[in-house]
Amino acid sequence: MKADYQNYTLLGYHHIPNVNKIDVFESAGGYASMKNTLKNIGKQQIRDEVKNSGLRGRGGAGFSTGIKWGFFPLESNGQKRYLICNADESEPGTFKDRYLLEKNPHILIEGMVIAAYALNTDRGYIYIRGEFYHEAKVIDAAIDEAYAKGYLGKNILGIEGFNFDLVVHRGAGAYICGEETGLISSLEGKKGQPKLKPPFPAIKGYRGYPSMVNNVETLAAVPWIMQFGAAAYKKWGTEKSAGTKLFSISGDVNKPGVIEVPLGIPLKKIIDDYCGGVRNGNKLKAVIPGGSSAPVLTAQQCETVTMDYEAVAAAGSMLGSGAIIVLDETRNMGEVLKWTLEFYHHESCGQCTPCREGTGWLEKILKRKNIAELKRPGSLSDIDLLDQVAGHMRGVTICALADAAAMPAQGMIKAFRNELSEYISLQQKS
Ligand code: SF4
Repeated sequence: MKADYQNYTLLGYHHIPNVNKIDVFESAGGYASMKNTLKNIGKQQIRDEVKNSGLRGRGGAGFSTGIKWGFFPLESNGQKRYLICNADESEPGTFKDRYLLEKNPHILIEGMVIAAYALNTDRGYIYIRGEFYHEAKVIDAAIDEAYAKGYLGKNILGIEGFNFDLVVHRGAGAYICGEETGLISSLEGKKGQPKLKPPFPAIKGYRGYPSMVNNVETLAAVPWIMQFGAAAYKKWGTEKSAGTKLFSISGDVNKPGVIEVPLGIPLKKIIDDYCGGVRNGNKLKAVIPGGSSAPVLTAQQCETVTMDYEAVAAAGSMLGSGAIIVLDETRNMGEVLKWTLEFYHHESCGQCTPCREGTGWLEKILKRKNIAELKRPGSLSDIDLLDQVAGHMRGVTICALADAAAMPAQGMIKAFRNELSEYISLQQKS
């Protein structure tokens, strides 16, 4: 990885040994932004600064954080209000929040305290993926340190009436708990099943109270924005995709890992300069640019696409969580799609018929399992049936999991139709 990441907003502390300890973090400049913001900057100004920075939700949806905060009622009217950090990070290929939590938990706590102050909340949760046992221990230890310093608890920094308690809640590993309403159901002790929106959690969330759910990377960007200002943040990225972004890069590259780069950087530069190129000198075949639910990009598209929300969407895919999965010429795209569809079929929570049944059908068609149940003589070819079933799953369910299975299937058909047809034809019919 290049050393210039040290100038950026999120990984700027990662080169410092033991920066997960509060004293080390503070001596490197940590919590300075929180102290200055809480003492000298008004709540409205904080919200304005975050909105003006152009920061967008880094969990996958890419919605403006400032606008989302704007939906949150600031007056309590006797109601409780919650700030919830989504640390579920379940999209296959994504591991950047985990990296942040493990290496620098205090940057998240600092961001959450600023957000809690700006949003008038006094209770926060970090909902962390069950498998992140080590990271949960790291963040728990960091929370204890922050309480000991008076950065959490009652009358924080001596500000009368500003109280903020923060609790880590471990999930049990369901993909769908990365969706904010599924996360809230799980936090309430129920099955982790998403709910129809509206009402949105900002109005009616955890236990029926207003709840602001933000991703780890999103909240961790807040201290830098408050320290250096929205204009400085916007100097990186593009007009609509401002700032820097963490990318998790896996698959067939020489140096996989997590990098922080300005949005709008060419994908080719990430692969060649930051990741040392495709492994073994192989040719690039394709890239999944935003986690497993993102449609695949061909090698030709990868030559020119830049990594910002608009450019990746214009190329027919999505930036999502910033999980770049690189596939070289040795990869069989049928196998890649099979792993993807098995995953989404397994993770469907079962509430919506197009998702519960559709994810299973996609998998069966690809594997030609029980194909007679699905096809009549003279009906569509297997690949057209796959495309048709995927098309019927999109935009008709409670949450986006059905789309998350349908989009990679349709993307793969579009980009690698012949290879996929051949793959299906080689499967044993049963
Ligand atoms: Fe559950 Fe799938 Fe419906 Fe989402 S789309 S609520 S995962 S059944």
